[in-house]
Amino acid sequence: MVVDLRSDTVTRPTAGMREAMLYAPVGDDVYGEDPTVNELESYAARLFGVEAALFCTSGTMSNQIAIRAQTQPNDEVICDRLSHIYLYEGGGLASNSLVSVRLLEGDRGRLTAGQIAAHINPDDVHFPVTRLISLENTVNKGGGVYYELEEIRKIKEVCVAHGLKLHLDGARLFNAMVAQGSQPQDFGQLFDSISVCLSKGLGCPVGSLLLGSKELIRKARRIRKVMGGGWRQAGMLAAAGLYALQHHVERLQEDHRRAKILGELLRAHPDVKEVYPVQTNIVIAGLHAPLTARIWQAALQEHGILISTFGERAIRMVTHLDIHDAHIERVSEVLPRFSIQKEHK
Ligand SMILES: *Cc1c(COP(=O)(O)O)cnc(C)c1O
Repeated sequence: MVVDLRSDTVTRPTAGMREAMLYAPVGDDVYGEDPTVNELESYAARLFGVEAALFCTSGTMSNQIAIRAQTQPNDEVICDRLSHIYLYEGGGLASNSLVSVRLLEGDRGRLTAGQIAAHINPDDVHFPVTRLISLENTVNKGGGVYYELEEIRKIKEVCVAHGLKLHLDGARLFNAMVAQGSQPQDFGQLFDSISVCLSKGLGCPVGSLLLGSKELIRKARRIRKVMGGGWRQAGMLAAAGLYALQHHVERLQEDHRRAKILGELLRAHPDVKEVYPVQTNIVIAGLHAPLTARIWQAALQEHGILISTFGERAIRMVTHLDIHDAHIERVSEVLPRFSIQKEHK
């Protein structure tokens, strides 16, 4: 048995999803004629209580489009230093939007309104113009933690007071919603743009959604085309997205329950120094020196358990649609039986 905990991107479409994809009506989406893409975009817009949505190939693309659409060259974007838009999008902010970035150090990737307010540049020719705030929810590098809605409301107030746009990298926003009992409209009301991934916990093979006003999405559609992201009979992929939004959201609780078990197993392990609080489907653990994440990864791989390294001494496990109780049982058999630390001593 292989237990693939590297990421929630490794899932394969479920039988129901494949069925939905197979029979989806399609057309040319660059002409606006794919009925299933149109249905997904309007369904998602209604779900979040916003005017419009755009179906994109990836979360990187929808984030990059959102930033490009809401900034001018030389503007500044404020985000946490752990942000995906900064760390994992290949420096796209620089080449796609020609913006500078102000990195702040939040609480496991979560910023406060006060922190943001303290880093808005004054109107002075020396400084770049602060234009956009980007939050990530849940925070991947923070161990899947989510924002309290109250803090986001305060951040929104700061944005309104200073005329700033507010973007949400909600690659795993549905994990946050399920864990805290919040609703899509809660976020739709607060953000100027939202990116959500369909290909993470929701289990689609491809796709992300960008949500916002009609005007934003009209602009975004143009930018997507420039990036080479105009696609044709994408309805087969949109059908997977619709299916996921209708069938794969509630079950995220299962992923969270299993992640908590993994967190406890790691916490009890002699090689493990600390485990981040587990709020959703991501478990990050720091190992005791001189152990390295690579050594642990290789040792677990020999037992058929695949994990990610997250820096030199941290590892990440992610639960998802294709991780069942039997996989967790397997990990609970293997983990207590090995300790590299002991062998080293
Ligand atoms: C995965 C992810 C994205 C987008 O990734 P793609 O692989 O481009 O779809 C964006 N933000 C966060 C926090 C992510 O985890």
